[in-house]
Amino acid sequence: MMSIRSLAGACLSAFAALGAFAVPASAQNYPTRTITMIVPFAAGGPTDVISRIVTAHMAQTLGQSIVIENVVGAGGTTATTRAARAANDGYTLITGHMGTHAASVPLYPKLAYHPEKDFEPVALLAGTPILILARKDFPPKDLKEFVAYVKANAEKVNAAHAGIGSVSHASCELLNSILDVKPVGVPFNGTGPAMNALVAGQVDYMCDQIVNAVPQINAGTIKAYAVATPERNPSLPNVPTTTEAGLPAFQAQAWNAVFAPKGTSPAIIATLNAAAIKALDDENVRKRLLELGSVIPAPANRTPEALATLVKNEIAKWTPVLKPAS
Ligand code: ASP
Repeated sequence: MMSIRSLAGACLSAFAALGAFAVPASAQNYPTRTITMIVPFAAGGPTDVISRIVTAHMAQTLGQSIVIENVVGAGGTTATTRAARAANDGYTLITGHMGTHAASVPLYPKLAYHPEKDFEPVALLAGTPILILARKDFPPKDLKEFVAYVKANAEKVNAAHAGIGSVSHASCELLNSILDVKPVGVPFNGTGPAMNALVAGQVDYMCDQIVNAVPQINAGTIKAYAVATPERNPSLPNVPTTTEAGLPAFQAQAWNAVFAPKGTSPAIIATLNAAAIKALDDENVRKRLLELGSVIPAPANRTPEALATLVKNEIAKWTPVLKPAS
């Protein structure tokens, strides 16, 4: 006769076997068709560029193409709402960032999604230090002069950003609150077009993710006053840190990461995470990301769990900073 213990064991193995068969065929064969990666900003900006570099390699690993769909508006929250409501079958993903999945929470009291409750984290793709940038002919020569100039001309200066809640908006809100200034905000559908306006001299300054700025700084088409991280960035060895340049209180590093709608199967998330990690280990992908100043996440920070923790911490960090400004 079977003992209670071995009966329980048999039941457990039967459940385990059932569980294995319960993985839907769609998850087992995934992916069998094109995947859409929603990018919540215009083409040519940091989120778009990072997504394109990494997904090109992921597509090779997955054996299916990944199509980038730029869905713009409302600081990235329009696209993120769409991604939250998409079918959770692994065929619609989003490259979110510090804005869409953290800063937007305090800034949009009626946000139609919650970054933690409505998404499955897939993988962190890149850390992106923030730079204080200005049009080439903006009068201040260095960060000290910039601070004095912006304070003295508080009524006149303007700051470009990618919409309320975007990284460029949230990080310049932090800068402006430190300086105690309220420049006129000039919104764009992403910092790709905002950068074009900065290069054209149509706007005064901007806080943006490094990926967008390195080519322009190196070409001498814009000014970079400082990078808001403790260390200089290897891609911009001549740009001082905010600490070196006299504004140590301004520290900001953003990030971009892939998310799937809530309820996407763990098997699909694992497949996508493995493909993202493989991309981040590829020599060519690394070279391109590093040339643009990105910080490639260390292995311990590449898991879905690590991304969940990052989102939680970032919401906690940005909420008190941005609540009074909203
Ligand atoms: N860097 C932008 C932001 O400010 C978004 C983008 O165009 O990627 O959020």
